[in-house]
This record gives sequence, structure tokens and C-alpha cells, in this order.
Amino acid sequence: MDWKEMFITGVVFVLGFSIGGTFSDIDLAPPLPIRHRSAWTHGPFIPLALWAASSGGLWWAYFALGFLPAYAIHLIYDMFPKKWTGGARVSWYPLTGWRMGGLLSFLFLAGSAALAGWMTYTLATGEFANLRIAFLG
Ligand SMILES: [Zn+2]
Repeated sequence: MDWKEMFITGVVFVLGFSIGGTFSDIDLAPPLPIRHRSAWTHGPFIPLALWAASSGGLWWAYFALGFLPAYAIHLIYDMFPKKWTGGARVSWYPLTGWRMGGLLSFLFLAGSAALAGWMTYTLATGEFANLRIAFLG
């Protein structure tokens, strides 16, 4: 890897980390048909898609390497609201208007954060790379 590639991968990593930390709260954007503390943006779906995309090339892998730990940190932060009421509980809107209870929300966020953390580990160490390529693309 020459200095140019190192610079670009560094920028992509920092960009991934910056976006990953705040991405989940995109559910606060008014035009989106989801509600805050959305299961779609606070769950395993985005990390899984990114983890799959990370096998598509070096830049995707570095983006994911930045994005996934920041995403996990965001979810861990969300695991400790002042109260488990209203928007603190995970919503499955528009699939259903039902919100998970406090304990279920906590476990959902914890599981999703753990998954994103595990994916970071697999990207950083290269372990399970064949598994990712075989099952996700
Ligand atoms: Zn959040």
C-alpha cells in the first residue's frame, strides 16, 4: 500500500467512524417513514449490509471498520436512557406501531451492539472472512 492508498483508506476510515456514530439517529429525519429509536436503524440490519459490502473492496472494508465500532458505541449509549418511556423504546414502525418494552429494547440494542462489535473484530483480524464471503457475498 503506497502513501496515497494509505491516506485514502485513512480518510475513508475516519469518514466511516464519523457517520457510524450518528447514523442511527437518521430516524429523526422528518421525511423518513420510520420513528425514533427505530429497529431498522438501531438493529443488526445496517451492520449486516455493511459487513456484506465490506468484502466488495478495500475502501468498503475500511469504511466498515470505522463505521461498525462507532455504530456499536451509539447503541451502547442508547442502552442507558433516563427512562424507558416513549422514544427510548425500540420501534418497529412502519411494520407495526408496537414498541418493545424497556428490557426487550435494552437486549435488542445490546445484541445489535455486540454483533457490530463482533463484525469489527472479524474485519480487523480477517477471521471469518471466508464465512462472510460465503454467506453474504
Ligand atoms: Zn440512537
